[in-house]
Amino acid sequence: MKLAQFPRYRMTFGPSPLQRLDRLTQHLGGAQVWAKREDVSSGLAFGGNKIRKLEYIVPDIIASGADTLVSIGGYQSNHTRQVAAVAAHLGLKSRLVQETWVPWDDPTNDKVGNILLSRMMGADTRLDPHGFDIGIRDSWKQALAEVEQTGGKPYPIPAGASEHKLGGLGFANWAFEVAAQERELGVFFDTIVVCTVTGSTHAGMIAGFAALEDITGIKRRVIGIDASATLEKTTDQVTRIARNTASLIELGRDLRDDEITILPGWAGEHYGVPVQSTMDAMSLGAELEAMITDPVYEGKSLAGLIDLVREKDIPASSTVLYAHLGGQPALNAYHSLWDDQGP
Ligand code: PLP
Repeated sequence: MKLAQFPRYRMTFGPSPLQRLDRLTQHLGGAQVWAKREDVSSGLAFGGNKIRKLEYIVPDIIASGADTLVSIGGYQSNHTRQVAAVAAHLGLKSRLVQETWVPWDDPTNDKVGNILLSRMMGADTRLDPHGFDIGIRDSWKQALAEVEQTGGKPYPIPAGASEHKLGGLGFANWAFEVAAQERELGVFFDTIVVCTVTGSTHAGMIAGFAALEDITGIKRRVIGIDASATLEKTTDQVTRIARNTASLIELGRDLRDDEITILPGWAGEHYGVPVQSTMDAMSLGAELEAMITDPVYEGKSLAGLIDLVREKDIPASSTVLYAHLGGQPALNAYHSLWDDQGP
């Protein structure tokens, strides 16, 4: 089936806004930098990249007759908060496994930010001591079984909605949305920079931009910045989901190796724990553009973009699009990063 034929249940306001980052561009002294803002693209609980993915999954949820969405993430998972939001929006229940993915000892970590919002939306949040892993988890299977045992009808949504067969479609369509906005604005983004962890955001873009290239004949770079700190797993997952999504939308050819790029170097030692480059990037985005990023995902991909532009790996002649995928609610649990700048 062609991408346009897949049913989409709209939960975004429309195309996510494009924003010129003139002060950041000037500061870096190289490529023109723009952002595409998934963080302000929906009215559902502060939005983010999962809303766009879930737009292609909701028709299947509704068709299934399920009454409970079951998903998994860390304590401060943006994904589980967005699943809770979609459940509330659809009038369904949500059961969320919240694992100890991040060695972050702040006493508010399991109380504020994303998990607070999920609880406000009526989600059943269950804390679980397991550590970080982007794959399919026993704790999640257990939650599905428990919903069934208590007479419910669960709908399974894996971490980041990435292993779901339709999980890549939202960001495959993002590529075509970018192309339409480019036509409107008379601009061309030769390079896209995107944070990647569970993989289907980046993978969807790879499939979508490949399909676009086959229509226009114009190539661009889609650069994934790893924020998982488990590069091999994320690369495998991105590659697999990109290929699956490409075949789902009938790309009609194999993806080339040069279409799948995931760069290490900004994730630090551990998923969810910021390093100096993350902090510097978050400060720069906030101070120059009032563009707020988080220490788990977007601060790391912004750090990657900044270095690539500074070092001219992305040349000065480029116009680069930074995919801002959301994530700000987690900041509440990371208040200590800025505590020393208080009174
Ligand atoms: N940025 C934010 C704010 C996220 O919540 C996520 C989710 O994991 C990502 C980036 C990474 O996206 P993906 O898991 O599709 O690789």
